[in-house]
Amino acid sequence: MNPLRASSHVLEHDFSLSASAAELDSLAAWRERPRIQQPTWPDEDARATVAERLRQAPPLVFAGEVDQLADRVASAARGEAFVLMGGDCAETFADSTADRIRNKIRTILQMSAVLTYGASMPVVKMGRMAGQFAKPRSGDTETRDGVTLPSYRGDGVNGFEFTEASRLPDPERLWRMYTTSASTLNLMRAFTTGGFADLREVHAWNQGFIAGPEYARYESLARDIDRAVRFMAACGYDFEALRSVEFYAAHEGLLLDYEEALSRIDSRTGQVYDCSGHFLWIGERTRQLDGAHVEFLAKVSNPIGVKLGPTATVEDALALIDVLDPERRPGRLTFITRMGADRIRDALPPLVEGVRDAGAEVAWVTDPMHGNTITSSNGYKTRRFEDILDEVVGFFEVHEGLGTIPAGLHMELTGDDVTEVLGGVGEIDEIGLERRYETLVDPRLNHRQSLELAFLVAERLSR
Ligand code: PEP
Ligand code: MN
Repeated sequence: MNPLRASSHVLEHDFSLSASAAELDSLAAWRERPRIQQPTWPDEDARATVAERLRQAPPLVFAGEVDQLADRVASAARGEAFVLMGGDCAETFADSTADRIRNKIRTILQMSAVLTYGASMPVVKMGRMAGQFAKPRSGDTETRDGVTLPSYRGDGVNGFEFTEASRLPDPERLWRMYTTSASTLNLMRAFTTGGFADLREVHAWNQGFIAGPEYARYESLARDIDRAVRFMAACGYDFEALRSVEFYAAHEGLLLDYEEALSRIDSRTGQVYDCSGHFLWIGERTRQLDGAHVEFLAKVSNPIGVKLGPTATVEDALALIDVLDPERRPGRLTFITRMGADRIRDALPPLVEGVRDAGAEVAWVTDPMHGNTITSSNGYKTRRFEDILDEVVGFFEVHEGLGTIPAGLHMELTGDDVTEVLGGVGEIDEIGLERRYETLVDPRLNHRQSLELAFLVAERLSR
């Protein structure tokens, strides 16, 4: 069922529940824990006023949809589906336009069509969208030409412009984060019922590669898909059924003021859900066992993820499982590893083995972006396409070696023709980065690099 059409669940909900219910009150316990990567709001009253407005506002997603996603993630953990999460490092208010959102959704749908073919499995599609407006930063301040100001923490907190006024955290931005997420979700819900993923167009997508040296590689896969599609059409398969797809919203659950204010009690079950998005993850910097983020996300029923970098130990992983998924609920917990291409083959196996040997079940997803960030000689924060691909291949090799399940991919990408990542068939070089480098935080694959990656992963999955 399309979460967009989950109206029976929606209609069953009683949204009038008092925000003072004990379950919601207990959510505030994170405030007693060490809380890092939170903005210092200049005016506590202003923050509380916005939080109250958010508490009264309609939820962005619904518990029935969220539970359905947990079922999908559980299938991926069992090897019966494959997760594809993708979108910006940081969404911005200015770029939350219809065109940009449509291009991003189209890219994810195209990648998932290619992966579905390669894996012969359904692809669980999630956008890093409709809530990805807050960023952890390595320092609280940034200094330029002798001037020191607060770091940019995402449009949900402050402005990117390097002025004192813009960098001052403003709680009104939390409200704008909510309204921008609502309009983004509205388009996501509309587009994913509109036939963008139509497999009959697979040849057209391939046209973008025509000039590239690797064109033939994609062409043969596209030809295979095309032949399968024609065969199914000849058998009377109804392609109109493919016009509507499930598409979920995911973001880092970083700004706990926002996440808490959007949490609601589900009247069917009495459980608490964070209704700011279907899937929330805890970042590499905020996964401390006694920290505020683990405390908060332990209390909500959504499927959640935790990023694990190369320093994560088996003990860390098992302790996180105990706190975040004590009941071992299928689909509840995803570990999103971000090791780096040169470390994944050593760092991942002990984690996967340790978790497996402890009898715990999680979905293992690879984020091949965040362990591979470099600075180009001309000063751009970038990544090499070949490193990203190598980490993905390493991820498959590790799981193949252990007989465990590679459950999905987590990507930073955009549907536009930006030049932020080096390489790919477009052969973007260091000078090429200057052409269209637009990201405010981390570099994203462009549309063509995203499709190229999907074709290469599909090739691997179809072996
Ligand atoms: C991110 O996903 O943009 C991010 C900051 O990741 P990580 O927590 O893995 O560093
Ligand atoms: Mn990032």
